[in-house]
Amino acid sequence: MRICVFCGSNTGRGEVYMKSGYEFGAMIAERGLEVVYGGARNGLMGAVANGALEAGGKVIGVLPRQLFELEQAHENLTDLRVVNSMHERKQIMHDLSSSFVSLPGGIGTMEEMFEVWTWTQLGVHRKPLALYNVNGFYDALESFLDVMVEEGFVKDVHRSMTLVGKDPAKLLEELTSYEPPLVKKWLKPEER
Ligand code: AMP
Repeated sequence: MRICVFCGSNTGRGEVYMKSGYEFGAMIAERGLEVVYGGARNGLMGAVANGALEAGGKVIGVLPRQLFELEQAHENLTDLRVVNSMHERKQIMHDLSSSFVSLPGGIGTMEEMFEVWTWTQLGVHRKPLALYNVNGFYDALESFLDVMVEEGFVKDVHRSMTLVGKDPAKLLEELTSYEPPLVKKWLKPEER
């Protein structure tokens, strides 16, 4: 089983994010699971990869050619796939993975996470998703998601497709056992 990890190319403030990312990578490897991620050695992305590799795990990186130098490819990955575009990157990360988890990150992380979420909502895939809420980073997003539900733009069933938690062991357990509800493909918004 492969877990796709979306997370920041920056380290975040203080040590909590890098430490949690490194430990999370190690926990994935200790469970015999493989990591799929963006392939960089920068920031939290690098910490997750190093945690998994140093615990003896396998890590597949998927990096667009254009970012090869900007984000500095990780040199010790099990497999580094250099692709032609951001879109190809996301498609390959999706195809390789059986579930997805987002750690703290910036705009790129949000983009990747929301895209796979929309694919679940549309029934394109049925792979579990989770937010690992390190240091309360995702509390504000949770409140915003409440607003989207309250104001009638997101259905409860679609919101609850993404698991949210602060306990990484529990999240990994859920990610490897939970199956999101079956959603029919390509329905009109009012029929979903
Ligand atoms: P960030 O959260 O902004 O630090 O970015 C995390 C990762 O997301 C980095 O590897 C970015 O290159 C990547 N990223 C940002 N935008 C996109 C996109 N549109 N498609 C694929 N990856 C992206």
